[in-house]
Amino acid sequence: MKSFIETRPDSDFPIENLPYCVFALKTGGSPVCGSAIGDYIIDLSVLEEKGFFDNTPISGKKVFSRSSLNLFMSQGRDAWREVRKVLQNLLSYDNPVLRDDEMLRKITFIPMDDVKMCLPVEIGDYTDFYSSREHATNVGIMFRGKENALMPNWLHLPVAYHGRASSVVISGTNIKRPKGQTKPTSSDKPVFGPSKLLDFELEMGFFIGTGNNLGEPVNITQAEDHIFGMVIVNDWSARDIQTWEYQPLGPFLAKNFATSVSPWIVTLEALEPFRTEGPEREFEPLDYLRNHRRNSYDITLEVFIQTEGMNEPFLISRSNFKYLYWNMFQQLAHHTVNGCNLRTGDLLASGTISGPTPDSYGSMLELGWRGEKPIRLPTGEERKFLEDGDTVIMKAYCIAEDYRIGFGEVRGKVIPAG
Ligand code: MN
Repeated sequence: MKSFIETRPDSDFPIENLPYCVFALKTGGSPVCGSAIGDYIIDLSVLEEKGFFDNTPISGKKVFSRSSLNLFMSQGRDAWREVRKVLQNLLSYDNPVLRDDEMLRKITFIPMDDVKMCLPVEIGDYTDFYSSREHATNVGIMFRGKENALMPNWLHLPVAYHGRASSVVISGTNIKRPKGQTKPTSSDKPVFGPSKLLDFELEMGFFIGTGNNLGEPVNITQAEDHIFGMVIVNDWSARDIQTWEYQPLGPFLAKNFATSVSPWIVTLEALEPFRTEGPEREFEPLDYLRNHRRNSYDITLEVFIQTEGMNEPFLISRSNFKYLYWNMFQQLAHHTVNGCNLRTGDLLASGTISGPTPDSYGSMLELGWRGEKPIRLPTGEERKFLEDGDTVIMKAYCIAEDYRIGFGEVRGKVIPAG
């Protein structure tokens, strides 16, 4: 596949990707839906207006001249596939329709430097899983000791908690250090103040395209049809608040002050060539959770940190989506098995994705082993947890022989509690 828009081999956005986003011009104007190729945003509202999607299921619905992708997401997998086909055809090297129409090209392709990325989805509900065995084991060892590291339910079901959708923010949003109640080990009473153990969590999330009716579970074999696409998620966590509050009902204020997502939703269609096997299973789960192991994706994940004293970001972890023990289809089947209804725009995140080796851990809690092994930075600085002024950047990409499918990045800077 080749486009008349040139893309560098290391570009996140070749013609094979075509992720979805919502953007606004820096010069003003309402947000609309877009895609990307090379260094350009594709204004999908223009292409829709010109009638290029008239022979697809979205015809006449004006799905792209809106400030969220929800209406498009609700149209279903056939619609997503057909729109993708039209787009790939329009962008292809051999097709003169856009290629040779300078006026149309000018209003369709917008340099990325000229736009501001927006939260692409109106998120109704946010659920966070806990699906990395390595992460659950590491945290279990630190909090409860080696013998009880993995809870007895963990290998039987994808553990999760209901998060907070209102505080999901787009990449680039500053993260204000949360204040809260903590209990220092040295004291027998709790204290109130800014979190001292602020952390990131390296995660991926997926958005629900079409939901299910209340009382009607999604069979695992159909789970894939409900997923619109994936983003990078940083599930910011205050470990000191978490330790004190989490029993018996799980995380609350330690997590719901902010969750950052990357602006590009990469579709399962684009990810299909990178489908791969997940980890070996300890034993087969119950029937409703049973699917092939080849239901994961080979997505390289990277975490960088940049303190105020550093000139460039420094890589502190490299992990992979394929390390997750529970795959997205199992997560979705489990979430709905009791009849719970998922709705268009819901965000389901993976939980911290840690790999098998210490350089692939997905949180500072693990990388610095609860402060015992501080992370050394090239400036000579050390970090046990995040300090004010630190920026965390996460990237995700899949590598093929002659192209790559990238997710862009999710970034956030920690600012003082004030
Ligand atoms: Mn999390």
